[in-house]
Amino acid sequence: MLSFEEDELFKKSTVNLKKFNDLNEYIKVLKQGNEVSLISRMHIKKGTTILKELPKAAVVNEIYKNCSNCFKDVTTILRCSVCNLIVYCSKECQLQDWTAFHKEECEIFKKLDKALTPSLRLNLRLLINEHKKSNSLKKLKSHKSDRSEESLETFAQMSMLLLHFVKSSSIFDENLFHATFMIELFCKVSVNSHTIVDNEQASKGLGLYLNAAKVNHSCDPNSIVIFHRNELSLRTVKDVEAGEEINISYIEVAEPFYVRQENLKESYFFTCNCTKCISQSVFDKSEKVKCPNCKKFVSLSSNLAINEKIGCECNWQTETFQYFRNKKKYFFNESKELLKLKDKKIILNKVLALINEYKQEFDDTNYQFIKFQFLKQDLNLKKLNTSKGQIIDDFKFSENLFLNLKSIYGFANEENKVGEKFHPRLGLQGYYVVKFGVNFFFFDDSNERSILSVEEKKFLNLLLKYLEFSQAQLKVCFGIESYLFKECEDLKSNLEMKLRFG
Ligand SMILES: [Zn+2]
Ligand SMILES: [Zn+2]
Ligand SMILES: [Zn+2]
Ligand SMILES: [Zn+2]
Repeated sequence: MLSFEEDELFKKSTVNLKKFNDLNEYIKVLKQGNEVSLISRMHIKKGTTILKELPKAAVVNEIYKNCSNCFKDVTTILRCSVCNLIVYCSKECQLQDWTAFHKEECEIFKKLDKALTPSLRLNLRLLINEHKKSNSLKKLKSHKSDRSEESLETFAQMSMLLLHFVKSSSIFDENLFHATFMIELFCKVSVNSHTIVDNEQASKGLGLYLNAAKVNHSCDPNSIVIFHRNELSLRTVKDVEAGEEINISYIEVAEPFYVRQENLKESYFFTCNCTKCISQSVFDKSEKVKCPNCKKFVSLSSNLAINEKIGCECNWQTETFQYFRNKKKYFFNESKELLKLKDKKIILNKVLALINEYKQEFDDTNYQFIKFQFLKQDLNLKKLNTSKGQIIDDFKFSENLFLNLKSIYGFANEENKVGEKFHPRLGLQGYYVVKFGVNFFFFDDSNERSILSVEEKKFLNLLLKYLEFSQAQLKVCFGIESYLFKECEDLKSNLEMKLRFG
């Protein structure tokens, strides 16, 4: 038998013990005390799918539009006839979902006239799962002790609401679930779940993926997560060496250093020490504020103390770093408010006003500015478009956004491809530029003539150049099987044909 000291020593040494488990041919799971990470088992080329996973539980945002089992867009309505609240793409999906979740869920839904929020529905599905097979979520971190009183209060209210539903249904053993358990569950779901998006980055739902939840964060990640319906794929966007850790970004990597740090601290409770955060400066050069004296843009450095004034070449001292951070917060909150509005016209006007206001103090390569531009572009894409003048505007606008985006993701210029980066948004934006461009070119019949002018040829060649860039991005991020890549192929052969015969 071990003495007390030896026993303590033994416990300490086991805490630091490294334990590996193979997850699949590409990756193994490393456990070190409480820390879990995924490690590459071999040299992996960029653009490889290294993990595919179906969710432990997932919910769609739009319960009348997407199949609640597989997320497919539903064309013929197959609605659950008991609760009348959710739809399926097929009998098979309905049956599968009934056995897995909906039998219990339906008991609760049938008493409601409106669907619960996605977050509540996901937690309910996980409760149902727990009810059938308890403790399957035991290993997930909750970070409960790191949370503010305020966020715990919100979770407590949501828990009470779910508890009320659960207790009113006959299928749950009501002693099984109590408030503490539920709050813990809400905490776990909020740090470990993924927003399910389509290839165009539109949010489709919310899901919990137990293996993908083990991937750690980096602001300069070697992998990304994409979805086909509700199936998650983990894909490499850099070449990865054997023994290297696999990481993804939990937040938008194009945000400046201090925003990334704040977001990670607020939502995931850690301070990021990734290579990019340690070298810091690369991205922050793109954060520029306007000098009120000479109107030139001055770079914000992340080493600035919070109360330090920003100095300009012209010797003018502008406002403090704190002032600009508060200003940024204001714009951030305004853009969040925008998403709550319904009327497209009001949103567009508000976006335009915010863009103008933003330009008074910040440079248009700052990421917040780009976020406003995205909103505007989304609105333009939806009406795809009325007059030739409007289409030219849309094209110029999306082109400008594309070039800003390239610089913010680390492309210095056309020639300098050192440190080439791959990001879903880059490929997608290039693709939109070409789509607007093609729309403009073929807007009236004048270009159906067989002879192209020098200017027209130049324009088509420019579109082809954007298309090539965009295709290379989409290939790495989504693979050659994705519909976006295939649509690029079609666009490319159309443009090439036009050039050859024009
Ligand atoms: Zn389905
Ligand atoms: Zn039902
Ligand atoms: Zn970082
Ligand atoms: Zn100045």
